[in-house]
Amino acid sequence: MAGNWKMYKTPADTLQFFQKFVPLVAAAQHCEILICPPAVDLTTAVQAAGGSNVMVGAQNIYPGKEGAFTGELSGYLIKSAGCSHVLIGHSERRQYFHDSEPEVVLKKTVAALEASLTPIVCVGEMLAEREGNQTEAVLVRQFREALGSLTAEQFAQVVVAYEPVWAIGTGKTATPQIASDAHAVIRKEAAVLFGDAAAKSLRILYGGSVKPDNAKTLMAEPEINGVLVGGASLDPESFAKIVNF
Ligand code: PEP
Repeated sequence: MAGNWKMYKTPADTLQFFQKFVPLVAAAQHCEILICPPAVDLTTAVQAAGGSNVMVGAQNIYPGKEGAFTGELSGYLIKSAGCSHVLIGHSERRQYFHDSEPEVVLKKTVAALEASLTPIVCVGEMLAEREGNQTEAVLVRQFREALGSLTAEQFAQVVVAYEPVWAIGTGKTATPQIASDAHAVIRKEAAVLFGDAAAKSLRILYGGSVKPDNAKTLMAEPEINGVLVGGASLDPESFAKIVNF
């Protein structure tokens, strides 16, 4: 159950969030819990989460270890801050920061794996693509571009998030059936490239306007292994309700 805070919350807000949130999910043993705050909050979040069952991840990564790349964060730096995960290829990064260019998501995924971070690789179609019956083709293409050339060992470390772009921040959640069908497409492609066992163990999260009142129905779908939550992860009570669906 992962929260993506995007460009919200200061270090002081982060501390307040964790003070309220950690006790609310302390008993949750059915899932892993992750918060991905802005970079400036990472160390505060890691310290505030210390010893709890809440993990911390970054929202982006730049390939390489160190270098003259002003404004970027490498996997090495993210890991050294105490993070365990990183989001890769979120649709907002694909839309505004060129992450949809060929090989960008692949390079970032490999960089995350090299730094022993778990990559959460986001894929998803735009509304026009869904309306043009392109969903399956888009998911297969994005999956292949991002993950197709990984080794089986690398692939086993990856989490995929299906995030239909038309459902992100819009209040329009995909129906459980739509999400489940898309997850099945992704899993089928995983089986083609990496075999049935790897596809079966692949964790696929759904993201797009997940709220406390729809988390349970989404999570009832066997294809949906978790959720990636934007807006509703900003409030500790609301995200705790989702975690404890
Ligand atoms: C997201 O940012 O990944 C997301 C799914 O946002 P929201 O839950 O606000 O739609």
